[in-house]
Amino acid sequence: MQQPTYPNRAALDDALARLSKLPPLVTSWEVESLREQLAEAEAGKRFVLQGGDCAESFADCAPDTITNRLKVLLQMSLVLVHGLQGPVTRIGRFAGQYAKPRSADTETRNGVTLPAYRGDIVNAPDFTEAARVPDPERLLQAHALSAMTMNFTRGLIDGGFADLHHPEYWDLAWVKHSLLAADYQKRVDAIGDSLRFMETLAGGAIHEFSRVDFFTSHEALLLDYEAAHTRTVPRKSGWYNLSTHFPWIGMRTAALDGAHVEYCRGIRNPVGVKIGPSIDIDWLLGLCRALNPDNEAGKLVLIHRMGAAKITEHLPRLIEAVRGAGHKALWLCDPMHGNTQSTSTGIKTRKFDDILAEVNLAFDLHRTNGSRLGGVHLELTGEDVTECLGGARDLTEKDLERAYRSTVDPRLNYEQALELALEIVSRQRR
Ligand code: PEP
Ligand code: MN
Repeated sequence: MQQPTYPNRAALDDALARLSKLPPLVTSWEVESLREQLAEAEAGKRFVLQGGDCAESFADCAPDTITNRLKVLLQMSLVLVHGLQGPVTRIGRFAGQYAKPRSADTETRNGVTLPAYRGDIVNAPDFTEAARVPDPERLLQAHALSAMTMNFTRGLIDGGFADLHHPEYWDLAWVKHSLLAADYQKRVDAIGDSLRFMETLAGGAIHEFSRVDFFTSHEALLLDYEAAHTRTVPRKSGWYNLSTHFPWIGMRTAALDGAHVEYCRGIRNPVGVKIGPSIDIDWLLGLCRALNPDNEAGKLVLIHRMGAAKITEHLPRLIEAVRGAGHKALWLCDPMHGNTQSTSTGIKTRKFDDILAEVNLAFDLHRTNGSRLGGVHLELTGEDVTECLGGARDLTEKDLERAYRSTVDPRLNYEQALELALEIVSRQRR
């Protein structure tokens, strides 16, 4: 399901052959290290922050966009580390998040019908016949741009950008005049004090505070692309998808007898799967069995995306079923995709309050059902966009006209994203 129809099969095969010979984007060691961290999160010892664009665009592979996104994720994780009093695993929804599932195969505007835009890895968003033709050369471009994104991200992190001693590196221009500035600065100062205290006790700098891990993830949608990156590794058994640390299966392609589950059950990477309100118990338990056949900790991540209005009705029975069957899984809440709505003028948006309400309900429902919410999955950007309504600046429908840039789903802007982290810890403090 959800695969493009390429006009020229030979050109596709040629592109895939070239792709499968290129170096991987991640290594099996990193994949194993993420699995260990996810197992710790499952055991309640960590929290997972997964976030980034709904759809990366090729044009967004630019230094400012990458650093700003990294900054906001680092700021959020600092707030979460401090507020939840525990380590946070950061997983970017980037360096490969280029393919998008679509509800319809075609799009009609003013009486003209064209094939749907399926993400920059397939075709272009412009509403012209030529732009919408799937182009296999885009597979190679996606690989190259993912590699550049990762190279820059790794360079920044290894060079000290993520050093907890220097949170000022992550300041975005707005921090000074934000309504949230005081709250954020209080946490930065508190962490600085703790660091100095511990390093005094330890008699010197503690290396662990100078660098952080950053993992990548994307929806494993375009199976030709994923397969071209699926490799064996010397001295390790099994297959690894080396295009990303953490692939996930989208809600539209999670059928038990579908190709995406069939592909993902064969790889060693931890695998996520999106769970919506239409899931039933047999389907969910079937996914657990297929995607984590050896019932290993850190292997399966269930990402529920119910919507604030539906989560209370659906989540408890799912938690109960998974626990009852003895399946190991990490639970994440995606509070974005169940809360999408259209404005009166037909713009896709989400309300900050719905997003926050779903996250808080997820924490509470897991707790009252003897489970634990292990993290959040968010669509956000480090840019000053106006795509979601509400937040501290109370963005209105009128504001959406100012800076709506997403080609697919509305993202939290940097300030809304940080506010969400601050709100989460103010209610969920352990
Ligand atoms: C997404 O994560 O962008 C997405 C399409 O989500 P879902 O599969 O949950 O609808
Ligand atoms: Mn999305």
